[in-house]
Amino acid sequence: MATIFEMIINGDIPSTKLYEDDKCLVILDINPINYGHALVISKTVYPTFTDCPAETLSHMMEIAKRVDKKQREALGAEGTNIIINNSPASGQEVPHLHIHVIPRFKDDGKTAFIQKEKYEGDGLSAMGAKLCL
Ligand code: AMP
Repeated sequence: MATIFEMIINGDIPSTKLYEDDKCLVILDINPINYGHALVISKTVYPTFTDCPAETLSHMMEIAKRVDKKQREALGAEGTNIIINNSPASGQEVPHLHIHVIPRFKDDGKTAFIQKEKYEGDGLSAMGAKLCL
């Protein structure tokens, strides 16, 4: 079954399109964290970030930078959150790669969405050893 973003790419359902090229599409998120929240969506369906070739990811990040610049210029955004939810456990709802570009403002009242932990004992160095590439 087609993802909601495929339906948008195919023109089967409407969207507010900000940009398009052969590799990606940029639209406004219909349920924004802040107004102007945009999504950079791959034209090819990659279910997760992990599935996407580096060249396409790199291109999409360049486009995300342009969206960030525009949000700062046009909306006065003082910062942005650039987020990829990667697999359902991380909160990914649509299994089709997309980068969230969320305009942020000082004191905009949006709370942090990830609660931080503290390492106990030698947990930090043990984790470093486990994840060393
Ligand atoms: P994620 O949880 O990372 O998969 O994010 C999916 C995002 O897609 C959510 O922020 C939704 O608000 C957004 N979304 C879902 N349907 C649409 C749609 N038809 N047009 C624009 N954004 C959408």
